[in-house]
Amino acid sequence: MLPFEYARAADVDEAVNLLAGDPSASYLAGGTTQLDLMKDGVLGPERLVDITRLPLRGVTRDGDGLHIGALTTMEELAADPTVTDELRIVRQALLLGASTQLRNMATIGGNLLQRARCRYFRDPSVPDCNKREPGTGCAAVNNTARMHAILGVSERCIAVHASDLAVALVALDAVVHLKGTSGGRSVPLTQFYREAGSSPDVENVLVHGELITAITIPFLPPTAVSGYLKVRDRASYEFALASAGVALVVQDGTINQARVGLGGVGSKPWRSLEAEQVLTGSPAGEETFREAAAAAVQGAWTVSGTAFKVELAQRTLVRTLRTVSGVTS
Ligand SMILES: Cc1cc2nc3c(=O)[nH]c(=O)nc-3n(C[C@H](O)[C@H](O)[C@H](O)COP(=O)(O)OP(=O)(O)OC[C@H]3O[C@@H](n4cnc5c(N)ncnc54)[C@H](O)[C@@H]3O)c2cc1C
Ligand code: SF4
Repeated sequence: MLPFEYARAADVDEAVNLLAGDPSASYLAGGTTQLDLMKDGVLGPERLVDITRLPLRGVTRDGDGLHIGALTTMEELAADPTVTDELRIVRQALLLGASTQLRNMATIGGNLLQRARCRYFRDPSVPDCNKREPGTGCAAVNNTARMHAILGVSERCIAVHASDLAVALVALDAVVHLKGTSGGRSVPLTQFYREAGSSPDVENVLVHGELITAITIPFLPPTAVSGYLKVRDRASYEFALASAGVALVVQDGTINQARVGLGGVGSKPWRSLEAEQVLTGSPAGEETFREAAAAAVQGAWTVSGTAFKVELAQRTLVRTLRTVSGVTS
């Protein structure tokens, strides 16, 4: 690990100023991703600004939504009574991620900003990675790329966004609250992330120094049902090959409202408006579910290692829709 300076911020303004004035500085929250990447030589910030003492921890019901401080841990959010009772999709997405030990350290802000799990990105001895070093190429496209993305990708980068929680949150229209040197702003999470495109190193709309202070999740209608399903190589402590987060309002056999997020397949947490369009106003049943799943993967771009994900993503979504709606045929 390269040497770095350590500073602990006393308040939000100090944190923002410490980072904004120093292009080589980075925030440190739970450290579960940041320190790994530094130890592996992928990242080398010259200064870490520890934000763990900032008053950004806790969950409150706030107006029409749930307000979550950015330093709330994954375990704390999963245990919140509103999440347990009304936001099953969020609870399942959280508890299917990482391990209990990690979830006790890992914060919600850090989870949303975790970096790619691409093996080539995380191995500095591999020279060609556009995300690590813009313009060098993409080692994954012509190599082993089983864990990579098929939606929102380009030949410049096929890395998947690894956060399970973010998939649930994009489906729920969550809003992320930011604080920078020129004040605060709120951004819908669906507009926060960027697809791989031509600049895979730019993953979101954050300006250097901006701090995530909180996230708001609007409440679902009282009759909504929701859930998150994750398909992976082993039953726990593993990232998704494909996942789906779904929230539905079904009345008299008809789907009145649908929200669909996909994970393990997108360069960003994937909201499938195409699937939602098929589902909304249609009968809750196998035919509708399959049609929605086909719509969700339209435009998929695959390499040999990721071709299987087109079918897997559809099956994962159909199974989630069946489970959440309780309609099996
Ligand atoms: C072995 C392992 C397995 C995992 N499995 C899963 C999984 O299955 N599913 C899943 O979703 N995740 C998984 N994770 C990822 C884990 O959820 C993240 O590492 C964690 O949520 C990051 O939170 P943190 O507080 O530790 O962030 P840190 O490591 O402290 O920070 C991560 C990044 O976010 C920045 N940052 C942190 N907080 C803020 C903020 N408030 N504002 C602005 N920038 C900020 C940091 O500067 C850094 O760049 C796994 C991690 C590991 C190590
Ligand atoms: S997929 Fe993206 S992160 Fe992985 S090697 Fe290619 S450019 Fe780098």
